[in-house]
Amino acid sequence: MASAATSSSAETIELFKKYVIANYNRYPVCLVRGEGSYVWDAEGNKYLDLFPGWGCNLLGHCPEPVVRAVQEQVATLIHVPNTWYMEAQGLWAQALSTRSFGGQAFFCNSGAEANEAAIKLARLATPKQRYKIITFENSFHGRTLGALTATAQPKYHEGVGPLVAGFVYAPFGDLDAVAKLIDGETAAIMIEPIQGEGGVNIPPPGFLQGLRKLCDDHGLLLIFDEVQTGCGRTGHWFGYQHFGVTPDIMTLAKALCGGIAGGAMLAKPEVASSLRPGTHAATFGGNPIAARAGVAAIEMIEQENLLDQGKRIGDIFRQRFTELQRSCDLIRDVRVLGTMIGIELSLDGAPIVKAALERKLLINCTHSTVLRLLPALNLTDAQAHEGCDIIAECIKNHR
Ligand SMILES: *Cc1c(COP(=O)(O)O)cnc(C)c1O
Repeated sequence: MASAATSSSAETIELFKKYVIANYNRYPVCLVRGEGSYVWDAEGNKYLDLFPGWGCNLLGHCPEPVVRAVQEQVATLIHVPNTWYMEAQGLWAQALSTRSFGGQAFFCNSGAEANEAAIKLARLATPKQRYKIITFENSFHGRTLGALTATAQPKYHEGVGPLVAGFVYAPFGDLDAVAKLIDGETAAIMIEPIQGEGGVNIPPPGFLQGLRKLCDDHGLLLIFDEVQTGCGRTGHWFGYQHFGVTPDIMTLAKALCGGIAGGAMLAKPEVASSLRPGTHAATFGGNPIAARAGVAAIEMIEQENLLDQGKRIGDIFRQRFTELQRSCDLIRDVRVLGTMIGIELSLDGAPIVKAALERKLLINCTHSTVLRLLPALNLTDAQAHEGCDIIAECIKNHR
């Protein structure tokens, strides 16, 4: 490989100790190359990656159409400000709009940024006295102060207050609690259609429909944070399409650009019109490289039928783990929607993740007890079974 790293993992770890702020828990491994659902470390070890890019690499590592689009664009025009028109951004917005609810797009660079835009738009697009936003316990909306305040998890709020005014929290799935929180100052309800970081929590039947009705009855905006559930992750283009409920505003990031950084907010045109010149901006938002990558990712999903493959992969994991659950009381629950997979254990999941790493399998654990997999849509059936075999052994050996 032309760009192979020349340092050992240990040497890179030394650099980090001296020069990089230690705000992440990192595995003691330096990754140097990726292809599809495999990554290699500096020592040449190969890993099967069932959590590629923390959900960003929905098409696997270095998907060829995305690589080609980026290589071509980077040699043509890297960046121009949003004071100019660029074809790629227009085509990207069209591609997203026509696959969702016909909204208009604002582009940014991350999930938190997309949610900040949504929060501001909700306040701008509703009458002046309306500013409150209802969000949900165990939600995750990002780390900037607005998105962090929307994130109703006390552990993330510790020590950084005062937070942003105007956020109130309801239990996920409790429609009555939401109704009680609505008053004349409420502007919006903001929710992940399926909670990701909070443990892969699927809403109870009728819940999202109920939220839509509350919004319609009270003149509120419904915001879906689809940063994790969007762009094909669940086997539909967007998570909300499983539930037959349309939001007024939707936020996207993570897998949006096939692994390149990018974020977007889509809003119904009548709502979007409140975002006028001067009200909001992102310097790098919608840059030609992200735009080309975003369009290439969508085209690849369609050309290779990856929504269907994602559903298939999800079915394999569901079947394998519900089967395992029958013989293994360490598995409490199995929650799967496409390639968004949560396996709730009756014990701490961290040792299982560690055991899997020793077997050269990359997985994640969230909310202490939920093994979370966000495999690539183009994972093969054989790779899915291999991953299931290893996880099953790691869980069984844990006794
Ligand atoms: C990851 C995530 C975010 C934050 O995205 P960043 O790009 O890290 O800012 C927001 N919402 C959801 C649902 C996420 O999963």
